[in-house]
Order: sequence, then C-alpha cells, then structure tokens
Amino acid sequence: MVDAPALAPTNPAGSSPVALFPFDNSYARLPDRFFARLAPTPVPQPQLVKLNRVLAQALSLDPEALAAPSGVEILAGNRLPLGADPLAMAYAGHQFGNWVPQLGDGRALLLGEVIDRQGVRYDIQLKGAGRTPFSRSGDGRAVLGPVLREYIISEAMAALGVATTRSLAAVTTGEQIFRQGLLPGAVLTRVARSHVRIGTFQFFASRGDVDGVRLLADYVIDRLYPQAAQPYRALLDAVIERTAALVASWQLIGFIHGVMNTDNMSIAGETIDYGPCAFMDTYHPGTVYSSIDAGGRYAYGNQPRIAHWNLVRLAQALLPLLGDSEDAAVATAQAAIDTYPARFESAWLAGLRRKLGLAQAHDGDMALAQELLTVMAAQSTDFTLTFRRLGDCVDDDPTAMAAVRSLFADPAAFDAWAVQWRQRLAREGRAAAAIQADMRAANPAFIPRNHRVEAVIAAAQTNQDFKPLEELLTVLAQPYDDQPRLAHYAQPPEPHEVVQQTFCGT
Ligand code: AMP
Ligand code: MG
Repeated sequence: MVDAPALAPTNPAGSSPVALFPFDNSYARLPDRFFARLAPTPVPQPQLVKLNRVLAQALSLDPEALAAPSGVEILAGNRLPLGADPLAMAYAGHQFGNWVPQLGDGRALLLGEVIDRQGVRYDIQLKGAGRTPFSRSGDGRAVLGPVLREYIISEAMAALGVATTRSLAAVTTGEQIFRQGLLPGAVLTRVARSHVRIGTFQFFASRGDVDGVRLLADYVIDRLYPQAAQPYRALLDAVIERTAALVASWQLIGFIHGVMNTDNMSIAGETIDYGPCAFMDTYHPGTVYSSIDAGGRYAYGNQPRIAHWNLVRLAQALLPLLGDSEDAAVATAQAAIDTYPARFESAWLAGLRRKLGLAQAHDGDMALAQELLTVMAAQSTDFTLTFRRLGDCVDDDPTAMAAVRSLFADPAAFDAWAVQWRQRLAREGRAAAAIQADMRAANPAFIPRNHRVEAVIAAAQTNQDFKPLEELLTVLAQPYDDQPRLAHYAQPPEPHEVVQQTFCGT
C-alpha cells in the first residue's frame, strides 16, 4: 500500500463530506497488495461539461446534487464524497503481444462502488485524477478530446446494445496538459461492472502469488459469476462466453477497439478503455485506425482471434486453480479455451442472421452473409448504411433498392446476391413488414462516425462550444430510430472528411 500524496483533496473547512454516493467498497477490502490507496490530485478550476442524468438516475444517484458545485468538485477529484475509499488498482498485461509485468491504474482512481436499482454493483472511477504509484512516466491526467471520445462512444455502444463501461460525467479541470501541444485537462467518471481485467489475474500469476489469483477469482465469482458451480472452471467458461459474445457484437456494428491488450480486456465482458477506437465507415476486414497499431494487430478482422489469444493468457493465469496437477490443469484450461471458436462463430452467425432478417437457421446462411461482405469489401461500401438500407428492401421496393444499389460502384454483384437473399427470405414465410422491423432493430442508422466525433471535439476544444456534443449524444441515444431532423448524421464522411487515423491521446 502507498501513502496518499501531500496534495490530497481537503473538504472545505466546516463542511462535512457530501453523501452523494451510497458507497460499499468491496475491492478496498481485498489485501493491500491489490492496489495503492491514495486520493485524487486536486485541479484548479473544475467545470462540468456533461452529466449523464439518465445513468445517474439508474444508479440511484441525485443528478442535481452531482451538477451542483460541490458535486462537480467531487467529479473533478477536488473533494471526496462520504464513504469513498479511493485506490489505484494493480494489474499487468500483454501490450501488442509483449509482456509488461507492472501496469496498474496510472491515471485513474476507483472512488468506490454503488449498487443500482436492480441490485447490480458498479465501480465509480475517476479517469484523469492524477499521478499514482503506477504512473511511471505519465502525468496521471486526461485531456478533453479523449475524454469526450470515450464519453460519446461508450454511451453510443450502450444504446446500440453492446456490453460496455459507461460514462457518468465529463469535467474540465482548468489545467493545460502537455500532449501534442497544450490541451485542456479533463476527468471522466467511468462506471463499470468491475475494473478487473485479464491483466489483473496476470499480475498475481506472474508473481507466483497463487493466493492472490485465488482471492481475485473468488472476488470475481462472488461479484460477477455467483452461479459458478465448479467455480474456477466455470469462471473461465463464463469469461470466454461473454468475451466471444462481446467481440461478435463489435464485429456486427463495425466497432474497432484499437488496443486489445490484455489489460484492456474486462473480466466482466464489457468493452473497456476507449482509446484510439473507431467505427468503420467503408467495410474492409483489414481496417485499422489506431496510430500506434502500425502492424495492424488489432485490425477489425483480427479482433475475434486476438480475443482468443487474450483468453489463453487468462487461462494460463488461472492454471494454479484449475487442477491438482499441472497436466490436469492444462487439460481443463485447454478444454475451456477450445470452446471459444464455436462460441464466437455462433454469436457472429446469429447476429448476421438478424442483420439479414433471418429468424430461422438454415444451412448456407453463413455463406450468404459472407458473400455480401465479400462484395461490400470489394466495392468499399459503407458498412452501416448498406445494412440499414437493405432493411428497406425486403418487399423489393424499387426506390429502396435504388438506394442500396447506389452504394455499390458496380451494382451487378449486389443484384446477383440480392436474388439469393430474396430466395432465402421467402423460406422464412414471414410478412415483409415483420422482417423489415427486425432488420431495423438489428442494423443501426446512427453510429458515432469518426468525422462527427472529431468535429465535436474540435468545437469543444477550440471554442468551448458543447452544442455539437449535445446534438451528437441525442442522435446516438436512439441509434435504431430514423430521426428525420438529424438524418444527416447517418451519412458517411465526404472524401475530405474521412478520418484516417485515431490517437489514444494518453
Ligand atoms: P492504456 O493504453 O490507456 O490502456 O494505458 C496503459 C497504461 O498506461 C495503464 O497502466 C495506464 O494507467 C497508463 N497510462 C496511460 N496514460 C497515462 C498518463 N497520462 N499518466 C500515467 N499513466 C498513464
Ligand atoms: Mg488501459
């Protein structure tokens, strides 16, 4: 455990700590070697940029109290709410395949945990709260651009139905942070089912700390997988299942995480650590946006097998708990890991069927979907728009067909595919309207397109103009509804608007 630094937040003289969060801090009750206990580092001038009132209410928190000056002080790390027990979690991880024995929260602090209306426990974390013993060379801070990216994209993912950490608030700090030049500092309040990562298990396993691995596994089972019967094998199975489902849901909406290091893979199966992530505009499996991924390790099409690789790292870390002998443990781990490809394929195929309006399962469905994807890749069509417009074509309406055909430079290949699709739809024996409704619920009209996200960040950073942020968040809150007044947000970028690269901005 590490002592708090000199610059700890002090609640103003005479004022009692604010009881904003009904904290119950289970992680803080684990042994000291799991974390470093310390307070956030205060900032000069906190200002609320965005509060997620809907999420606050779901967590039984009072939005008015959070938005009040004393609430904003808390969201910036200048004041500790009653019951907070702030700590930086220890973890390790494989970064781009290379082993890093010591990582940990270098600029984030877990304030504490709250229990929502459904009885689900959530971490409340301040990201950008200052240096920690795990910071090494970093400044412990976050800047406004990446904080807004994470806010926008995580909330869009939630509305799209993808498991994800959430964003409760974004504040600016009044500090200028040195990155590529000076940029406004910011703090994001992140909400997660848990911040335990594959890398958290690796941290203890790599130190030969079998008790640590077991304590962590027991903690995770108790919190996230209480139904586990043979608990450690079941834990591994459950994480494999959730991760397979998660990555399938990424593939189905064209989301590219960008940094699938094992320290960025949640044990709860949530999307976590939004850095240089991006949604694909034109479809191609090789698509990479991240400036730090020169080799394309984390390209769109690689995500399913990278998740598999990461799960092998988790299985290795759990080996001491999986059998009485090493051989038995390896056999158990291997049997679990070998279920991943089929679990992924099944989630992916089920999702592709939904995207194509197929409620039944027939042989050849995967081939049918793959043929469309092949044509889309060859002709660089927009991933989101192609599927959305396809949903209007179920009854072969000529205007709708023209709209989807216009996305293909050479529509003949699409036409040939569409004939097969129609034959397959006919086998469903369902009304066109029902199929169309299903397709609209599976194929979003709105995704956080990179050029829109960049425009929001530019307006916020350069002009302190947060109206574009509000409008984008409004659009993305209902991604499956046509919103005629805001229909332009569904459009792909014009050639001069295309974003080629994204940055993690840490
Ligand atoms: P990430 O690439 O964001 O997953 O971060 C990898 C590691 O670097 C984690 O241990 C982070 O806590 C740490 N880190 C990232 N940015 C900073 C920063 N500005 N200051 C200190 N540590 C950082
Ligand atoms: Mg990370």
